[in-house]
Amino acid sequence: MSLKPFRILWACGLVLAAVQTPDAQPLPDGQIRVVLLGTGSPPPVMDRFGPSILVQAGPETLLFDVGRGAAQRVFQIGLPLRAVTGVFFTHLHSDHLVGFPDLWLTGWLNPQFGGRTTPLAVWGPAGTKAMASALMQAFSEDVRIRVADQHYDPAGVRLEATDVTEGVVFERNGVKVTAFDVDHGELIKPALGYRVDHAGRSVVLSGDTRFSENLIKFATGADVLIHEVAAAKPDFVERSAGARDIINHHTRPAEAGRVFERAQPRLAVYSHIALIGDAQAPAPTIDDLIFETRTEYKGGLAIGADLVRIDIGDRIEVDSAVPAR
Ligand SMILES: [Zn+2]
Ligand SMILES: [Zn+2]
Repeated sequence: MSLKPFRILWACGLVLAAVQTPDAQPLPDGQIRVVLLGTGSPPPVMDRFGPSILVQAGPETLLFDVGRGAAQRVFQIGLPLRAVTGVFFTHLHSDHLVGFPDLWLTGWLNPQFGGRTTPLAVWGPAGTKAMASALMQAFSEDVRIRVADQHYDPAGVRLEATDVTEGVVFERNGVKVTAFDVDHGELIKPALGYRVDHAGRSVVLSGDTRFSENLIKFATGADVLIHEVAAAKPDFVERSAGARDIINHHTRPAEAGRVFERAQPRLAVYSHIALIGDAQAPAPTIDDLIFETRTEYKGGLAIGADLVRIDIGDRIEVDSAVPAR
């Protein structure tokens, strides 16, 4: 007897098992849930995926930036990709965007993991609308084939993109999103941070920025402030023009500490963590990062990692978004 049919069945079983959505943990009323889907930067490493932060509030599930691996992370925490009700970009650097075609297109496919039947709304700085229309053009052949061959609803793959500037950019179901300007360098304008307010709770996301007074203004009084950070040993920065470029476009740990000290969130969180170095000047460690931050700030501080979940209510709870099995 040939083993071939058995092998095929076995393979199909694996595929079916793999697409079962794990149970998402319920979100209590009046709370905001934040999940750090990816806390890395451009290096294609496995332990930190590309920048992407999911914010759930009321019935809304909003994604802020869609870096490498964001679609896998959304599914990993128990959500089908169609659960994402809106996408916001902080700026148009590729490491914040490259996961977007996957989230968008795969989210239109099989309902076991996708199943979107209505357009996907996208907001971002100037250039977002043009990028969305270029993406629809780039993938038009795939869309044409799948509509004709698999009869997917073309409405589910439409992008509805809006270019936004500082101000309230989204208000629906008791959830308000406010964009504000940050400072990611002279040539990277506009670059935005976002504040999400819901039921008296709030979270602020820095986006990519150097030390920013405007960020402090919008973050003051927020429950949770999630900030980017970049660090390198001083001799490496002196020696390497590339390192200087990176450090000069981002916020150093002591500077972030000053931001936290001024804004006084109930909890400060690092995400989009870039610790850079080489053989002669090894990258700073997480302990170094904490030590430098603590020179300026003594309040609550969490070091983000992929799949960290932060529930914001009367208490702020930090846990893993993926239950231990
Ligand atoms: Zn950037
Ligand atoms: Zn970045």
